[in-house]
Amino acid sequence: MHSMNSSEALLLRKTPYRDADYILSLFTKDLGKISGIARNAKNSMKRFGARLEPFVHFRVSFKDTGREFKLIQDTETIQFFPSFIENIELFTLGSLLLETTDTLIPRESPNEELFKLLIEALSNLNSKKSPLPIVLQFQLQALSVSGYEPNLHSCAECEKPIKGDSYFSTNRGGAVCFECVGERKNSFIFSKDFLLDNDLMESDLEKVLKYIKLFTKFTERHTEKEIKSSRFIEELKL
Ligand SMILES: [Zn+2]
Repeated sequence: MHSMNSSEALLLRKTPYRDADYILSLFTKDLGKISGIARNAKNSMKRFGARLEPFVHFRVSFKDTGREFKLIQDTETIQFFPSFIENIELFTLGSLLLETTDTLIPRESPNEELFKLLIEALSNLNSKKSPLPIVLQFQLQALSVSGYEPNLHSCAECEKPIKGDSYFSTNRGGAVCFECVGERKNSFIFSKDFLLDNDLMESDLEKVLKYIKLFTKFTERHTEKEIKSSRFIEELKL
């Protein structure tokens, strides 16, 4: 028995397969991350058009075959985010969001909250608001709703509440107080107040970029997966 399903979706990855097929990794609202095969997709404008691309929010219909790959039947555009194609910096940041999501979610485990956060972050980036704070806030929220929340409020060593600044230990999963670590020259001074205040972020985008890199490393460390677009973050012009 093949059952027909439909869900809102975003493309995470696409790999050409045989002459005209694609193997897809999709983040769906209702089923979480799924793998599917889009047969003859390179030739079928009617069923797939230009929708099997990143940064298109679409509705996908598919048949569940009981195997690893679902049979992708049809797609229909809900909204398209054109800024990512026009602007290389936004493309890099958008790719980082998609890849971070891909890294954080297991297969076929629905996470509707993360889906909504991702659509919202992509919409905000697309509307040309200041992009870096949007990316950083998405990282924090995405880590939180997928079970990898960094501990910002108490020391990872002594568990005392963190007041103001601290160090941050990627390995320990969060903030570490100055007393526990002692003085370390040139260490990254971590400010949870900065992270929780949008106005502060807007005022220091260079600092925001440092936190984006920190939480990208944090995500890689705790999921044990590589985020490839992080390499291009180094080249961003603010
Ligand atoms: Zn401590």
